[in-house]
Amino acid sequence: MATPAFITIAVDGGAASGKSTTCRNLAKRFHLLHVDTGSHYRTITLALLRANIAPDDTAAIEVALNPSAADTSITTGTLLCGNSARLTINGTAPDAADLRSPAVNAAVSPFAAVPAVRHFLFAYQRSQVATARTHGFHGLIMEGRDIGSVILPDAHLRIFLEADPAARAARRAAEGGIDSIVTRDQTDSSRSTAPLLCPPGAIRIDNTHVPLASVVDQIAALIDAARAAL
Ligand code: C5P
Repeated sequence: MATPAFITIAVDGGAASGKSTTCRNLAKRFHLLHVDTGSHYRTITLALLRANIAPDDTAAIEVALNPSAADTSITTGTLLCGNSARLTINGTAPDAADLRSPAVNAAVSPFAAVPAVRHFLFAYQRSQVATARTHGFHGLIMEGRDIGSVILPDAHLRIFLEADPAARAARRAAEGGIDSIVTRDQTDSSRSTAPLLCPPGAIRIDNTHVPLASVVDQIAALIDAARAAL
């Protein structure tokens, strides 16, 4: 069978809107590279917290993220784990438990609102398209808050997932996490740089009353249709 055309898919949405489960499933089904940009912001947050830098200390953040400040600088790389690409910091990918700790949950949105942090990740995130091609994936599915608006505005398919806050809080509680998703959404939606929004032209899918398996099937049909048009 011929290799299908390479496809890029952007999936945005608020906290606990079902992005990761949906994207992981689709990545396996279509042999796509899955990139979770929320984990990028979590990884940077962890590194900055460990360096005792606060989200309002923009000067210290800029020094830490400046590639020419050789002694303090954070260097990035990519570790492939099956279909997932993980961001490494100074050669190491942090543990998932550390990335989802209450301290990181509380600090990640304030750090993500800092333009220097977003600027630091911009080129890295865009470079994941080339990583997916180099490693023979049939495309890339990237999830976050600004993928369809800023990182991959030309993606072949742009999806915006949403669910009402009570449903999302219940999902997060069922996972056992301590996470104030409403506060995070407010910070993410109101920041001036790359706010959380449904970009014009994206397909909005509300999954408050729909099981994620059905959402996966719905997006799978959209991927088939988008590919047929490539
Ligand atoms: O997706 P997740 O909930 O792990 O994202 C953690 C935080 O990272 C978000 O609340 C947001 O502040 C930030 N983020 C972002 N832009 C993205 C992805 C995540 O600002 N593309």
